[in-house]
Amino acid sequence: MAKLYGVIIIGSGPAGYTAAIYAARSNLSVLMLQGYQSGGQLMLTSEVENYPGFEEGILGPDMMEKFEQQARRFGTEMIAEDVTAIDFSKRPFTVTTDSGQYYAKAVIVSTGASAKWLGLPSEKRLQGRGVSACATCDGFFFKKKDVVVIGGGDTAMEEANYLTRYANHVTLIHRRDTFRASKIMQDRVQNNPKISTIMNTEVSEILGTNAVTSVQLHNVKTNEDTELATQGVFLAIGHQPNTELFKGVLDMDKAGYIVPVEYTMTNIPGVFAAGDVTDHRYRQAVTAAGDGCRAAIDVERWLESQGEDVDIENWD
Ligand code: NAP
Repeated sequence: MAKLYGVIIIGSGPAGYTAAIYAARSNLSVLMLQGYQSGGQLMLTSEVENYPGFEEGILGPDMMEKFEQQARRFGTEMIAEDVTAIDFSKRPFTVTTDSGQYYAKAVIVSTGASAKWLGLPSEKRLQGRGVSACATCDGFFFKKKDVVVIGGGDTAMEEANYLTRYANHVTLIHRRDTFRASKIMQDRVQNNPKISTIMNTEVSEILGTNAVTSVQLHNVKTNEDTELATQGVFLAIGHQPNTELFKGVLDMDKAGYIVPVEYTMTNIPGVFAAGDVTDHRYRQAVTAAGDGCRAAIDVERWLESQGEDVDIENWD
């Protein structure tokens, strides 16, 4: 008979690892399905300086390594594979990966979100070398530098404003002639003397060998191509929650973020969600970690409240 876990955690960012630490320490048997690319968005970040406890800062991948080791220390089993299917229609829940099927009394979904990228090869090559998708994470490294922000929504406005704390000048580049952002956020940008805007323009290339030196711009109205010198490129063209697998099963908002119905519990009793997969507002490692803690505590209390309701004798 296959093993029945107390909880399966899907996803291995700060939310997932924190949930694993809490759940494993409360004596639940925990399986984490980490994904082929474990560690989440922090694996793409360089220095993390705003996570409490690391007063000197820590590299994103190093921090995730520590999270993982801490989760392992309390007995979390881990498999670095993607989940390919789920069955939440009956308990125990079934989660499938390339190596087989796994069963659990409860599931925590912490699959995170991914920043959207333009899709330019240069953008990938220069990630962490001037290209970033998180001003809160990386703005500090652009003191007295010229940077560009790409996007026309609230995030782009927020990031542009935030970056003026450090940067010499911020150029906001948007592909259309109107912003999608709320009026108040647009006003803040327009009233900020350190921000200028370029409309109807796409970034067609990011230039630089070891660091960003300029961007190539294409005006979609005039078809004119120009080059703008810059040391930083901040993408703010939206995030995509990683929820494809759960569509039609878990309640989501129109952008695809999971909407928990009771604390961290989703519309399916016994299935919980934590971290960026539920959050388009804060998106910080520390908020995701806090959320993972809440989910693990909710799992524990829910399992307790079920008593013998989860029939573990006749499930295989
Ligand atoms: P968003 O509202 O979807 O805006 C994305 C922006 O990026 C749009 O202006 C879009 O252009 C542009 N864009 C998308 N793909 C692009 C591409 N390939 N190339 C160039 N530009 C591209 O995303 P968001 O700004 O991250 O906001 C997400 C949600 O969070 C929204 O509901 C927002 O209101 C909310 N939010 C709120 C606050 C706040 O209230 N403080 C702060 C941040 C976010 P088009 O306009 O042409 O489509």
